[in-house]
Amino acid sequence: MAVHDYDLVVIGAGSGGVRAARIAASHGARVAIAEEYRVGGTCVIRGCVPKKLLVYASRFHGEFEDAAGFGWTIGSARFDWRTLIANKDKEIDRLEAAYRSTLARWKVETIESRAVVTGAHSVRFERTGRAVSARHILIATGGTPSAGDMPGAELAISSNEAFHLTSLPKRIVIAGGGYIAAEFAGIFAGLGSVTTQVYRGAQILRGFDQDLRDDVTAAMGKRGVTIRNNATITALEKVSSGLAVALSDGARLEADAVMLAIGRVPNTAGLGLEAAGVALKANGAVVVDAQSRSSVPSIYAVGDVTDRFALTPVAIREGHAFADSVFGGKPWEADHALIPTAVFSEPEIGTVGLNEADARAKHGAIDIYKTRFRPMKYVLAGRDERMLMKLVVDGATDTVLGCHVLGPDAAEIVQMAAIAMKMGATKRDFDATMALHPSAAEELVTMRDKWVPPAA
Ligand code: FAD
Repeated sequence: MAVHDYDLVVIGAGSGGVRAARIAASHGARVAIAEEYRVGGTCVIRGCVPKKLLVYASRFHGEFEDAAGFGWTIGSARFDWRTLIANKDKEIDRLEAAYRSTLARWKVETIESRAVVTGAHSVRFERTGRAVSARHILIATGGTPSAGDMPGAELAISSNEAFHLTSLPKRIVIAGGGYIAAEFAGIFAGLGSVTTQVYRGAQILRGFDQDLRDDVTAAMGKRGVTIRNNATITALEKVSSGLAVALSDGARLEADAVMLAIGRVPNTAGLGLEAAGVALKANGAVVVDAQSRSSVPSIYAVGDVTDRFALTPVAIREGHAFADSVFGGKPWEADHALIPTAVFSEPEIGTVGLNEADARAKHGAIDIYKTRFRPMKYVLAGRDERMLMKLVVDGATDTVLGCHVLGPDAAEIVQMAAIAMKMGATKRDFDATMALHPSAAEELVTMRDKWVPPAA
């Protein structure tokens, strides 16, 4: 067998890459990991983690409003963006250091450089020009925000820059209808920005259950987000009062910041993959099989760069499965069925399994159980907002196919429901589970009546 400088070179020290590097090293492999920006990757540095911290910050607004109904008088609450960002940065620094020390502990060599693939077994580190050989190469380069192509697009920010704004914009326009756009709309509205979300389709959060979409858009509106559907930003221009934003429906808005959250593209541009014979999809994603192997047997890819399910836990599982399979003699595949996800909008969505429309298309006869209710806390608070809980059940087998929750702690609730569903729980199993009272989640085990569509 040819002798290589490394058993494994990982390109990209994000969720998938770090896990794969650490596990491969634990199996005795000589591993190097290249990172061109910061160790931790998107999730830790400019994704899930800082996003959730900003979500927490934004929710105090509603909490202060709700406190009055419980007898609290809150003095003049003031928010300081710089303090939030400085504290967030400190936490991200701490996490990056923890990732670095984990890699060092496992004797993974961290190379702070952009890396490119130069062949089936060779990689070049751009900062020094050093070329190395590796038995295996793992592409774990993630994705990057899609840039706009409208005139003035360079005036807009993406989620990357949103985490580093020097001040809170008084007015912000966010383009996009996916979860990142919805989350940032909630963040900025909660922190006090006049927030407009512009989406090219008829309704945001395509692919989510229709009831969730209907209810979350209504609730976001009540929480101060103006959603403009069927519109795109056609031009941006600097004006004395900020930015002028022209929309395709003829409207013209003014804003202090414009954020584009219009999708993400896999990071493969200039990576040398095509020259090395690695097949890519039209959008640049690496084509892989269930073992995350590319069309070149020595090159694998995990995480967002493969455009399968762009979520951190998925990237981590794929990286782990790759390392165990290739270096640990314990082959297994990451299971992509029943992946729970959340949208940390305000209110929050938690969802797992099939939405009603997909379940109907796939299974035919399905039963729907759903309830909308005012969470206990909102009664004294005087908040006019309903929580939604919905179960989609296979009419033939009674198996719970989908669980959809909108409201406080939806993500926490759905994570637990996902365990039951992964075990194949039926509606009867949910019914047999004792309720935990008083909680919102108890509704998931106390819904008895099938939902009947209202007569036309
Ligand atoms: P990444 O974590 O993106 O890591 C790739 C790394 O490769 C980066 O550090 C990059 O700098 C580096 N790199 C790229 N090219 C090179 C090169 N040529 N040489 C060296 N280094 C290179 N997921 C969730 O599960 N929950 C959430 O709540 C959530 N929120 C998100 C919020 C935002 C705003 C964003 C943008 C993403 C969010 N995600 C969330 C998605 C999550 O961040 C990604 O799915 C996850 O980070 C993917 O991991 P990865 O290992 O594939 O890539």
